[in-house]
Amino acid sequence: MERPHNFSAGPCILPLEVFEKASQSVIDLDNSGLSILEISHRSTAFVGIIEKARELALQHLNLQDKGYKALFLQGGASMQFLMTAYNLLEKKAGYLDTGTWASNAIKEANNFGKTEVLASSKSSNYNYIPKDFLVPEGLDYLHYTSNNTIYGTQMKTFPKKENTPLVCDMSSDIFSRQLDYSQFDLIYAGAQKNMGPAGATLIVVKEDILGKVSRAIPSMMDYQLMIKKESMFNTPPVFSIYVSMLNLEWLSRNGGVPSIEKKNKAKADLIYSEIDRNPLFKGFTALEDRSMMNATFSLKDEQLGPKFDKLWKASHINGLNGHRSVGGYRASMYNALTLDSVKVLVDVMKNFEKTA
Ligand code: PMP
Repeated sequence: MERPHNFSAGPCILPLEVFEKASQSVIDLDNSGLSILEISHRSTAFVGIIEKARELALQHLNLQDKGYKALFLQGGASMQFLMTAYNLLEKKAGYLDTGTWASNAIKEANNFGKTEVLASSKSSNYNYIPKDFLVPEGLDYLHYTSNNTIYGTQMKTFPKKENTPLVCDMSSDIFSRQLDYSQFDLIYAGAQKNMGPAGATLIVVKEDILGKVSRAIPSMMDYQLMIKKESMFNTPPVFSIYVSMLNLEWLSRNGGVPSIEKKNKAKADLIYSEIDRNPLFKGFTALEDRSMMNATFSLKDEQLGPKFDKLWKASHINGLNGHRSVGGYRASMYNALTLDSVKVLVDVMKNFEKTA
């Protein structure tokens, strides 16, 4: 059966070879006769898997031997909204409000201290990234969302302040582009976009920012304890970590982040040039803030919606509907989506122009 072109925003497409290897390992992990699902998380086999996953994550971000630790925890990125604040917020932290996820992070941090919203694009339904904001002195940390999955905006630069740790939610663009990742002190990302199946959350943290708050931190919320226990204070999400490891190996075999960035750029260029060229469509976000991962757009005449929907669905395209808070369409183009899938979508848009 031909697989659909999967533009789903997350959980999302992963490479077919990863699905194949993962499904094989559910029956028999590396000729052990045992399923990945039935072995102890303390077994040599699984300890090897999580160590490999940690090593690959740091390697792909160029953060090896720079004082960072990689953790695989549960609770999704949403748990990190509070865990970051639990561990880092003493008095006041600065947040950039670039969307629903950023504002959820602010809401959770308010349980632990003060937050200062440095700037917000809420009044224009988050269709751009605020830029001319000042970062005051004396914040415990600064928090950004690098890619706003719902709106299709992506930060290209990350204003910093000396002596202020930089925390970033990279749930929807981690491992997709080259950045100086050492500018960040803590990065977190739910697995279910460019890493693996939902269930695991990657946290990459510079150890020297920890242990500075005066509050008592419950064990399950304590980064330092999680580091000490190598992500195994309790049973970790073994399958999600295993498939993430397979996917990070796939990324290595395919040239790593530099090579995937080129492919992601080609995909984004193709879809955005069609959105701009085709008189029937318009983009949602400010041009300079367009995301390479999620392209949001709509029909200028919404009445044409049912006709367009019929066309893309007939071309085996899946997951193109926009988020309910934006409407229209969202083409999510994560690492495993091929340029060919984007070409199919662009052809549908071109054909639609001819027939509409
Ligand atoms: N941050 C961003 C940027 C996201 O896209 C999402 C989910 N799509 C979240 C946070 C929330 O992640 P989770 O469902 O893993 O809690």
